[in-house]
Amino acid sequence: MDEARYQSQLKRSLLQRDHFLKKALEFSHKATHPEESSDNAFQSLINLLNQWCEQGRPPSQSRRAAIPREVRQTVLQLDEFECRQCGSGLDLTVDHITPIAKGGSNDIGNLQTLCRHCNSSKGAT
Ligand SMILES: [Zn+2]
Repeated sequence: MDEARYQSQLKRSLLQRDHFLKKALEFSHKATHPEESSDNAFQSLINLLNQWCEQGRPPSQSRRAAIPREVRQTVLQLDEFECRQCGSGLDLTVDHITPIAKGGSNDIGNLQTLCRHCNSSKGAT
């Protein structure tokens, strides 16, 4: 199964707690045998489970992509409050260079300042 397909399946499975837990059980073998797994999808499932534990509810897509406020502020400061693409200072957003759905993180190294226009013309993140 490729990762994109796995991700969309995982999203659907998040809608149903029981189904999700079954999935987690399926992966529990890998959790106890990490040396047998080089599976990115497995790692993102673990990340989701961790988030779920921290937040006490299943992470929705927007929660999953949420960048901590202080990280967002640091990224904006590093980019001097200008869009990295067009230099605009209006309507700035903090963008994931590698989308979360493709294994990107909320690390500063994976974030950049884009104005809303450039961000939306970049395509879905
Ligand atoms: Zn721009």
